[in-house]
Amino acid sequence: MAKRDYYEVLGVPRDADAEAIKKAYRKLALQYHPDRNPGDKTAEEKFKELAEAYEVLSDPQKRAAYDEYGHAAFDPRARAARAGGGFTGGFHDPFEIFREVFGGSSLFDEFFGVRPDPTQPQRGDDLRYDLEISFEEAVRGCEKEITVHKLDRCETCNGSGVEAGSRTRTCPTCHGRGQVVTSRGIFSIAQTCPQCRGAGRVIERPCKACHGEGRRERTSKIRLRIPAGVESGSRLRSAGNGEAGLRGGPPGDLYVVLHVKPHEIFQRDGDDLYCEVPVSMVQAALGGEIEVPTLDGKATIKIPPGTQPGTMFRLKGKGVKNVQGYGQGDLHVRINVEIPARLTAAQRAKLQEFAELCDESVHPIRQSFFEKAKKLFR
Ligand SMILES: [Zn+2]
Ligand SMILES: [Zn+2]
Repeated sequence: MAKRDYYEVLGVPRDADAEAIKKAYRKLALQYHPDRNPGDKTAEEKFKELAEAYEVLSDPQKRAAYDEYGHAAFDPRARAARAGGGFTGGFHDPFEIFREVFGGSSLFDEFFGVRPDPTQPQRGDDLRYDLEISFEEAVRGCEKEITVHKLDRCETCNGSGVEAGSRTRTCPTCHGRGQVVTSRGIFSIAQTCPQCRGAGRVIERPCKACHGEGRRERTSKIRLRIPAGVESGSRLRSAGNGEAGLRGGPPGDLYVVLHVKPHEIFQRDGDDLYCEVPVSMVQAALGGEIEVPTLDGKATIKIPPGTQPGTMFRLKGKGVKNVQGYGQGDLHVRINVEIPARLTAAQRAKLQEFAELCDESVHPIRQSFFEKAKKLFR
């Protein structure tokens, strides 16, 4: 079959300028790209023909030769007879030409539905690690060593995935794009190329240690310094301790999410601590000094005679150190009064005796309450 005229293929006049030739190629190449016409042999032939025509007409030297000799300018058999002025080496891969023309243009992205170029170095994934720490560790800060199972850079091939002495070449499945496009009805779906897994290049002999991935699953021990004052849900970033990047990309980060175990007697609200301290009925009535626990040992507070349940006392600066270094919270002590239970006969008798000594004036809260309730009792 006779070759069609290159100008005719691109549908441009013989005096078309470089811009017009490029424009014509762009339009037709998109139309006949095999990804847009899966299984259509005619489209594939047309796509190749377009690339060849564009390759020649976009190059001033080749175009001049074509204008003078026609297709014979690129025919190795005719070249010998012509003595020079021809071209050797045949034509480039039509997909390579397509990439050259469209690479980096938004049209290319639009066509393939690609945003980041998958063949570029990729940053490794961030990892999350959930770590449980004790209340004291959160309050005081601590050092922890954690064991993380993750993809690290392969040391054998230094992350390249290539066996020593081997090379890489353009992936024949995706022609270096790293993606293949399949059509489902009216949709074109771009997917990572199954052969090169997005790299755009395949390795002749992959590294045996990592099977060409450049990364290996490994167990790493990572030391963490946990600052004083962290809370449940606090997230620590351990820069560069995520998974290794691909194709020379930087590693991701490791995020450690802290879970603080509850304390037996302290509750925490920000930098403040709360603690409920039970006192005896007699202590509450007579007042005096009571011992209260703090983060660093015990403290003493004085409660006045007649201290009621629920009364709050504040110990300034006995809370949690602020994680950003802004001072320290307070400790709030809430008094609970424990009513004696399981009394002996003697104790009961004394209490009875005590009750007989009391009139309503020792229970002003009770007195006031029943004053108000009287109306309802009638
Ligand atoms: Zn390797
Ligand atoms: Zn590929």
